[in-house]
Amino acid sequence: MANIGIIRCEKNAQRCPLTNCIKSLRNTQQAFSDYENAELIGVFTCHCPGDNVANLGKILQSKGAEAIHMCTCTFASKGEEGWVMGDGFCENIDDLIQQLSEAVDVPCVKGTAHLPEDYTPEVFK
Ligand code: SF4
Repeated sequence: MANIGIIRCEKNAQRCPLTNCIKSLRNTQQAFSDYENAELIGVFTCHCPGDNVANLGKILQSKGAEAIHMCTCTFASKGEEGWVMGDGFCENIDDLIQQLSEAVDVPCVKGTAHLPEDYTPEVFK
């Protein structure tokens, strides 16, 4: 069983209750497909400019997270034919995940649910 923490973006926090992220995690699909079983152990919200993300990651790790995922909406957007790369909520998502991965000892994964076609979740270690 993999214990997973999710960090979402504040820009989507009032519109999205993470339904598909949680469903994908529970069913080990999308960015969670490498896990045999997965359990959500906590969710945090990043706040701009993202200075809090390292601390959020440390807390998630202290709560047992064995991997931390950043939501797909940070780097991708919904197009007419599904989700596509670009136009996500965060301009600095790669720097942010890099900072996160340097603050914790667990893999940090760029993506959760509804991955763009041909996108393989990037893992920052
Ligand atoms: S720093 Fe990026 S991920 Fe964090 S709240 Fe701002 S836009 Fe969202």
